[in-house]
Amino acid sequence: TYRPTPGVVTDALAELLERFAPLREGSLADYIPQLALADPDDFGIALVSMEGHCYQAGRADVPFTVQSVSKPFVYALALSRLGLEEVTRWVGTEPSGDVFNAISLEPRTGRPANAMINAGAIATTALVPGTTPEERFGHILDCLSRFAGRCLDVDEDVYASEARTGDRNRALAFLLSSAGTLPGDPSEAVDTYFRQCSVRVTAADLAVMTATLANSGVNPVTGETVVSEEVAVQVLAVMASCGMYDASGDWLLRVGLPAKSGVSGGLVAAGPARFGIAVFSPPLDVHGNSVRGVAALRDLSERFGLHLMRRP
Ligand code: GLU
Repeated sequence: TYRPTPGVVTDALAELLERFAPLREGSLADYIPQLALADPDDFGIALVSMEGHCYQAGRADVPFTVQSVSKPFVYALALSRLGLEEVTRWVGTEPSGDVFNAISLEPRTGRPANAMINAGAIATTALVPGTTPEERFGHILDCLSRFAGRCLDVDEDVYASEARTGDRNRALAFLLSSAGTLPGDPSEAVDTYFRQCSVRVTAADLAVMTATLANSGVNPVTGETVVSEEVAVQVLAVMASCGMYDASGDWLLRVGLPAKSGVSGGLVAAGPARFGIAVFSPPLDVHGNSVRGVAALRDLSERFGLHLMRRP
């Protein structure tokens, strides 16, 4: 099995930081005004092993909002509560090839293509059981916190900023509702989704969360079983095919790890039964993926032969 020695990991992360910090490409997401206030020089990397060891380099403790990196974890929650058959009645499992906020539904079924793009994530959020919006969001925050191994909270300024400007996501929710592919009230679903995207995390948190998926659903730091192995595998599979927006195929080809990115600059990748890694760096490429994040993980995967299709 893969057992990197601590010194090797620490050195590798420090080296990635040094190599890619000078990269000045990309731009900050500004369609949510509050995200445009991010510091483009923030750059942190964290890795968590299956033994629960945490390694970090750079600004891995800087808080930022989770945005789309929440999607696989809330998908895991919906799968845990309802099972794959019921969830796939509402949300598909095919890469869409579309941009993250595309107004696209599958022609035949009217379902969103997958849970990693906005339409599918809004439907997934709406699937989380709860009798009131507060209860539903409570389950989501609790689940994200268990994945992270600590109590997370909401950045109210980012939430307010997104709620003020989120008409496109609102439109998506109403479109789903009219197609009969959104359970419950569309306004409530999209509001809960905005809150979910505004949960505050650090790269260190995201590494623990992703390591939990890589570790068959058991948080390697706290020892808690957050989701079943079956659900962890299902989520990693959808991340592998759909996690990097419309660059998912190229990512699987070149990096070869299940991953998910978000517009605030978070990027996570899982080495199943090996590690969870997270990078935070806000400037994004044209697909909406963190420029330094993509460069760093590509380099790491090549250097250590981490591509899943390779012999371990
Ligand atoms: N809250 C963001 C939105 O829905 C998340 C998008 C993302 O990170 O891809 O627009």
